[in-house]
Amino acid sequence: MASTSKPLRRVIIVTDSAQSVTVKGTAVVGGVRFAPAVWVAPRPELPTAGSPLAEDLRPAELERFTAAADIVAERLDARAQEVSGNAAGVLKATAGMVRDRGWRKSVRKATNNGHTAEYAVVDATGTFIAMFEKAGGLMAERVTDLRDIRDRVIAELRGEPEPGLPQVKHPVVLFADDLSPADTAVLDTAVFTALVTRLGGPTSHTAIIARQLGVPCIVAVGDEIEVIPEGTEVLVDGVAGTVTTGVDPDEAARLVSESDARAEKIRQWRGPSQTKDGHRVQLLANVQDGNAARIAAETQAEGIGLFRTELCFLSATSEPSVENQAEVYQKVFEAFPTSKVVVRTLDAGSDKPVPFASMAQEDNPALGVRGLRIARKNEEMLCRQLDAIALASKQAGRSEDVPTWVMAPMVATAYEAEWFARLCRERGLTAGAMIEVPAAALMADHLLPHLDFVSIGTNDLTQYTMAADRLSPELAYLTDPWQPAVLRLIQHTCEVAKVTQTPVGVCGEAAADPYLACVLTGLGVSSLSAASSSVAAVGAHLAEVDIEFCMKAADVAMAASGAQEARAAVHELYDTEVTK
Ligand code: PEP
Ligand code: MG
Repeated sequence: MASTSKPLRRVIIVTDSAQSVTVKGTAVVGGVRFAPAVWVAPRPELPTAGSPLAEDLRPAELERFTAAADIVAERLDARAQEVSGNAAGVLKATAGMVRDRGWRKSVRKATNNGHTAEYAVVDATGTFIAMFEKAGGLMAERVTDLRDIRDRVIAELRGEPEPGLPQVKHPVVLFADDLSPADTAVLDTAVFTALVTRLGGPTSHTAIIARQLGVPCIVAVGDEIEVIPEGTEVLVDGVAGTVTTGVDPDEAARLVSESDARAEKIRQWRGPSQTKDGHRVQLLANVQDGNAARIAAETQAEGIGLFRTELCFLSATSEPSVENQAEVYQKVFEAFPTSKVVVRTLDAGSDKPVPFASMAQEDNPALGVRGLRIARKNEEMLCRQLDAIALASKQAGRSEDVPTWVMAPMVATAYEAEWFARLCRERGLTAGAMIEVPAAALMADHLLPHLDFVSIGTNDLTQYTMAADRLSPELAYLTDPWQPAVLRLIQHTCEVAKVTQTPVGVCGEAAADPYLACVLTGLGVSSLSAASSSVAAVGAHLAEVDIEFCMKAADVAMAASGAQEARAAVHELYDTEVTK
């Protein structure tokens, strides 16, 4: 909701409170920026189907399409040459989509049926969009990529300017429905100082690239974004997830410089992580392959707290052999040869369909046969994965003093925990479970005695506690890990863990929020794992507080009536007790 009330984190002085508006979205990358809002260049108007063209005109339409698509692909490739790393990969992948044989075949079919090249592109892309949306989850988030290539090719066919980033030279805050990968990959952050999108989610391309660039970013603002006219000076607070208009420019400058000073502290922070009074909290990274693990190894992350193995096999139609799996896993172990690495067994299903493992069709996949539930139906497959993990660990030369930790996703009962732990221990692996189903948290006293460790998956724990789809932008206010209901489940788990002496980690996105990190530490969590780019911010923040502050923050957050109130109360506590 747009509101004229004070922003959540702190009071911002506004020039004219009647004119001041604050809209809120999902905070993705922290930092404060103040600049005029500018929208990305409009997408082309989409053509509608006309009457079929005469047969002799149809081949020329296909030729027009091929020429335009080739130009678009070449342009994207050329841009990929100008950048490096992930950005180059994203641009090459987008160029690859423009060259995709299946998509081009679909366009050819539409031109053969008498459609113009422009409409054939709309028609063919529409088929793919429907397919991706039906698959849901990560596939559905790629729909933005499809619309992007469609619009670029249509603009090229019409000789219109390429849709996307506006040509500006002065600093602006970029507003968009959702940014395409091709746009975000070449963003000049000196010009586009912050990103605000109507759509998207914490795992959309905009969010991934914004994290990589370290540019303040807020997604899923919804239609409230419309209340801010283009050209209005806005204050973007990437921690609070707010965009505010009517802010006094001097006050804005002060907040920006305060945020920059914090960024400098983060740059200078060196681990290992502990509070000011020496309470240790291990900071670990979430990765999906060897490449991400190598990137994490260059940060202050002390190890891997979550290796999402299912993401290695999103397109595998048959189960890779034990040796082939081991080869993939080994690359992650090699990035952290002597440190803690927590491997999660396949969390296939729901938003992460793995062709060889997931159920073909389910009415309600988030509540269906996903994660460990697939392994319950196919124990041999789980055993082969555990064999592969053990083999990879051995091949990577890990010694007995560096145990290999393995955990199961979506554990809901004590029986599942016991069964999984037995299979792990038979292979010399340290056995754990994710606590991401509310039942597992509530039954911690029955689950934990079977396990060597647990790791709380706050993304799913929040989704299931609040009965709100984690990928829905409309429900982002519910799927907020600051929800006191979620914190109470974590508290309960930690209380049981204290008795059973079981290490408790958190590996959901909550672990990336420096303020929430204090709360989790206060609740008794001993390791935090999130995107490696967030490690230094969390470490620098924990270094400023003591354990007493963390415990107070935990009490304050749990006593709050809702997520926003919890966040605001902890920020306020920090402002009064730490910033002073
Ligand atoms: C979680 O649910 O918090 C988690 C870490 O697992 P994933 O995001 O992969 O479902
Ligand atoms: Mg999960």
